[in-house]
Amino acid sequence: MDNSGMDEPAPKIISRKEAQAQGLKRYYTGKPCKHGHIAERSVSDRKCLECNRSNVSRFRENHPESIRETNKKGWSKLSPEHKREKAKRYRTNNRESYLQGMRNHYEQNKAYYKQRRHETLRNLADQYNELSAEEQQRVDAIYAEANELNARDGARSWHVDHIKPLAKGGKHHPDNLQILTAEENLSKGAKYEAEDS
Ligand SMILES: [Zn+2]
Repeated sequence: MDNSGMDEPAPKIISRKEAQAQGLKRYYTGKPCKHGHIAERSVSDRKCLECNRSNVSRFRENHPESIRETNKKGWSKLSPEHKREKAKRYRTNNRESYLQGMRNHYEQNKAYYKQRRHETLRNLADQYNELSAEEQQRVDAIYAEANELNARDGARSWHVDHIKPLAKGGKHHPDNLQILTAEENLSKGAKYEAEDS
């Protein structure tokens, strides 16, 4: 295969009929299309591939929303596992732009996230107040243990996790709490989604 790019040799001249007979998808006459491209053409509809390419890129430029919609639709058809796998691959291959995207998103939605955090803490406090004294002690003990582990490790590497997530109707109750490493906690999010859907 010739990969020299700019100096790519012209394709061999082959008529549409010959190409068809050989089961090829493209043919090449060496004559310009009506837009002046000297390029291969598609056997099925005689269209110039160079015209096709510029039509596609013009469409992309003029209809960014439509492209986004199409991408979104394609995305929504993927299975949850496939989505996770693609997202993970994206994060791995585009680490910097992923992190920048996260930062931008957070900056643009700061008020929302502040509000959400506030609501979550409020919700936890409300549920805590509903617990019996004995249950409150058990909750306190779990948080104290996590704090001790973090103090020992000098980092926030231990999380108190709601076994059934709050967002899925899990309760802020000692029976629904566990201590996880930050890593386990992050990978758990994905697993829970999978089991639930
Ligand atoms: Zn053309």
